[in-house]
Amino acid sequence: MAPPRLEILGCPLDRVSMAQTLDIIRGYLKTDSFHLIVTIGSEMIVRAQTDHEFREAVRGAALVVPDSIGAVLAARYGGYPLRERVTGVELTQRLAGELGPSLRVFLLGGAPGVAEAAAHKLLSIGPGIHVAGARDGYFKDDAEVVQQIKESGANVLLVALGFPRQELWLTRYGPDCGVRVGIGVGGTLDVLSGRVQRAPQLFQKLGMEWFYRLALQPTRWRRMLALPKFALRVLSGGKQAVRPLTEGQVQS
Ligand code: UDP
Repeated sequence: MAPPRLEILGCPLDRVSMAQTLDIIRGYLKTDSFHLIVTIGSEMIVRAQTDHEFREAVRGAALVVPDSIGAVLAARYGGYPLRERVTGVELTQRLAGELGPSLRVFLLGGAPGVAEAAAHKLLSIGPGIHVAGARDGYFKDDAEVVQQIKESGANVLLVALGFPRQELWLTRYGPDCGVRVGIGVGGTLDVLSGRVQRAPQLFQKLGMEWFYRLALQPTRWRRMLALPKFALRVLSGGKQAVRPLTEGQVQS
């Protein structure tokens, strides 16, 4: 049964835990169609309010998981608590650790060398997995990339091109890549490759991961302006800013 779906400021969000997300992906891998998974954060929700194409891409996703603390807090504020964040980094690590030989993953995105380094990391987490291919995110010819992924025989495609490009790319080309699952994973490959440090556990627990990232990459400040915008819009919209779209089974 599909998990219950909320809408936060017009953007969907599924009330799933990490374990439930992994189960859902196992199910997708048994099908013969493409499923887009969006790892949604506050910045993305703010973007979706004005970017029609991006909003439609997120709305068309099979699954939208709560990547950021802002999404988790907004859902709780609306009266729909979530069990936990389901971040791109953790989801990728758990896929590698738990799917074993049924995972044939293709990594697309990041600067040259990043996807390959991330692939090595994934192989060390899940020795039984198969890395079908890796390619950097600075390509011009979409059709050639689609062909490469298709020929690789991958069943899961991780795309790290930053939002909204990764979600738009997956919406447009994902179904042609021959994969069952396409996930927009943002900076995940940078973290797995060791190129970017993830915030220490304490920052993550306090919901301050964004602050750590800002301190490490001060050039992100402009992007970070979306965070107070998101908070203000949720708070001023009251409970209306967060509303249920569908019912379903919440995992306890
Ligand atoms: N990127 C890419 N091609 C581009 C632009 C960006 O592969 O044309 C990559 C970039 O190298 C980085 C990722 O996209 O690895 C975006 O990371 P960011 O930290 O912005 O993602 P977030 O997790 O914040 O969405």
